[in-house]
Amino acid sequence: MKDLANFSRIPLGVLPTPLYKLENLSRELGKSLYIKRDDMTGTALGGNKIRKLEFLLAEARDQGADVVLTAGGPQSNHAMLTAASAARLGMKAILVLKKRGVLTAGNVILDHIFGADVRFVDTDSYRDVYAEMERIMEDLRQEGHTPYFIPVGGSVALGCLGYVNCIQEITRQAEALQVSFDAIVSATGSGGTYSGLTLGAKLFIPGTRSIGIGVCDDPFEKISLRLMQETAALLDCEVSAGEEDIHIHYQIGPGYAQSSPEGREAVYRLARSEGILVDPVYTGKALAGLFTLMEQGYFDGMENILFLHTGGAGALFAVDL
Ligand SMILES: *Cc1c(COP(=O)(O)O)cnc(C)c1O
Repeated sequence: MKDLANFSRIPLGVLPTPLYKLENLSRELGKSLYIKRDDMTGTALGGNKIRKLEFLLAEARDQGADVVLTAGGPQSNHAMLTAASAARLGMKAILVLKKRGVLTAGNVILDHIFGADVRFVDTDSYRDVYAEMERIMEDLRQEGHTPYFIPVGGSVALGCLGYVNCIQEITRQAEALQVSFDAIVSATGSGGTYSGLTLGAKLFIPGTRSIGIGVCDDPFEKISLRLMQETAALLDCEVSAGEEDIHIHYQIGPGYAQSSPEGREAVYRLARSEGILVDPVYTGKALAGLFTLMEQGYFDGMENILFLHTGGAGALFAVDL
């Protein structure tokens, strides 16, 4: 198996991010609940995409790219963090976003602050968004530019390495705290974070179950299986994670990026018990999923649960709670 040090990487994150016990919530829940603060990855408002971009933008740089293109919804944290990271690296960012939902507040404001070229496509389908990106890239090449393409959420094998790396970080932090985690719970939106974590856990902390909380109705069991196989191939691993390693639950509410009562309650609960903000689109719903599983007795027999905070604060200023 290859070491992550074999891959080109730009240190965009301020790592390791903090990992500690949520004392008040643990007392309330009667279990030890820990948090991994990937909302504090150190660029813009922080968030999980920074770990993926460390590898993706290194590949862009190695290919001599001067323009990076990515896609998302209008409130995409990934697009905003791509804009911030590209600015830092002296690359131009073109964000091709679906013209749906809140088009002016929240992350769209930040996209402009970071100097991104924001273009909206009036569609419900990423097929149309990707077709528009192809056209833009063709024009750029004609003009002598070298574009680099990142799909929604940066969820390709190279991006998943960011969360294999995160598991290595968690492993060291758990050793220092002398705790072993029975489960890691994270939000799943395009699958890359979950796939990297789940493969990483299988490789480095096989006693830890990786649980994904889906916030949209994509088939993440299938998506993460494929991404894990591709990531394992990239790493030259003999074993890949398989179906038995995948634990996906859903907490969608009325729909992706629409606030749900459970998510709202989780936002308030974490804010008022620990002084930490989660967002209404991803992390609030993931935390709500964790609380639901706990009520259902899913964690009976487990003691130490780690919640991965993947960021998303920008959406608090664009979605009605
Ligand atoms: C993108 C995102 C996720 C989901 O990560 P994926 O790798 O796309 O599944 C979770 N939380 C936040 C805040 C995000 O921006």
